[in-house]
Amino acid sequence: MSEVQHLSSEQLIAYEDKYGAHNYHPLPVVLSRGKGVHVWDVEGKQYFDFLSAYSAVNQGHCHPRIVQTVKDQAETLALTSRAFHSDKLGVYEKYVTEYFGFDKVLPMNSGAEGVETAIKICRKWGYEKKGIANGDAKIIVCGQNFHGRTVTIISFSSDPDAKGNFGPYTPGFISIPYNDIDALDAALKEHGSDVAGFLVEPIQGEAGVFVPDSDFISSCAALCREHNVLFIADEIQTGLARTGSLLAICGDCTCEHKCEQQESYTRPDILILGKALSGGAYPVSAVLANDTVMEVIKPGQHGSTYGGNPMACSIAITALEVLQDEHLAQNARDMGNLFRERMQALVDKYDIVSMVRGRGLLNAILINDSPDSSTAWDICVAMANEGLLAKPTHGNIIRFAPPLVITEEQIHECCDIIEKVIKSF
Ligand SMILES: *Cc1c(COP(=O)(O)O)cnc(C)c1O
Repeated sequence: MSEVQHLSSEQLIAYEDKYGAHNYHPLPVVLSRGKGVHVWDVEGKQYFDFLSAYSAVNQGHCHPRIVQTVKDQAETLALTSRAFHSDKLGVYEKYVTEYFGFDKVLPMNSGAEGVETAIKICRKWGYEKKGIANGDAKIIVCGQNFHGRTVTIISFSSDPDAKGNFGPYTPGFISIPYNDIDALDAALKEHGSDVAGFLVEPIQGEAGVFVPDSDFISSCAALCREHNVLFIADEIQTGLARTGSLLAICGDCTCEHKCEQQESYTRPDILILGKALSGGAYPVSAVLANDTVMEVIKPGQHGSTYGGNPMACSIAITALEVLQDEHLAQNARDMGNLFRERMQALVDKYDIVSMVRGRGLLNAILINDSPDSSTAWDICVAMANEGLLAKPTHGNIIRFAPPLVITEEQIHECCDIIEKVIKSF
């Protein structure tokens, strides 16, 4: 092992290239350590992390409380499977359901598994509660969505890379344009009695941080209620304080925990969480719903060997406590306003940036060049050289999503780096 520890970034990248499948195209940076908003490469260079593992590390890298929980639980009991009870599962289930105000949770591991689980629950509810004829259940989704990488999920993707040559595809999905309430209305009128659910991201993260009109999500929820259709919110990326509130669907509600005004925000029938549910320490996802929905799942009908294991349960509780104790939603809101203000100044000043958009600390700038150009990539490489990591999405969009523990001073330092690089293009 000692030999491995001395490999250079270049050598390590060559290993990945030779021995790993080429299913990602990472920036040429090899990281070996993280703390809070910072990561370090194998040569010891320090960076601000403005991706946060796609918002899995909202609480900051290697948060000391989360690390302590990992250590304690790993030394005590890591995995039982669901063939037996554990002393952590029920405690976590009580904690997470009270935290978000739902009757029940179904614990899984990855985000994609959470989405798959929601789809299965939704279809079963459609047949057993709504009375849809066997095999006819439909779920409405939105164009440019990102919900994960399984065959069923990519079956309703509009991204040719995500979908191409992975067929045959799972049927039963209807796609409408995002942020188009009339399209949802029309689809519900056309297929209403066969529609079991509507699956949506409250802000489309992977698509390039598309924030819909302020009443889009609540209007969708109202239409779903009217047509007896389950409203399913995928908050895997937007949830857990990222957008300046506990969940993106909470909008301006500033409750950080056990919301007192649950009815005033758009409560989904099914809520999917993942990513920051573990603060980056472990794959943990969750599907939350009330009894009338969740009761369609009976023993033997769904599960996962690792789902709800003691490590996941303990880590998730600590990760949620950190969000609340450190007021990360409030910080994301304040730092996000500051960040967009600074970016707007760049938009006004330099032709190369045409727009900034986002909410809380989920933001993106649009680079004024074709999506086929390498400009956004080159800007990200230049920012990495200056000590800030961010990644382009869809060619000419750069997403900025630092850990939510970032301070005002650090935001200014980072905006100075971004400005310096933008200025040089
Ligand atoms: C990341 C993500 C997923 C998939 O999560 P994985 O853990 O990568 O499977 C699903 N939905 C959204 C909105 C995401 O951002």
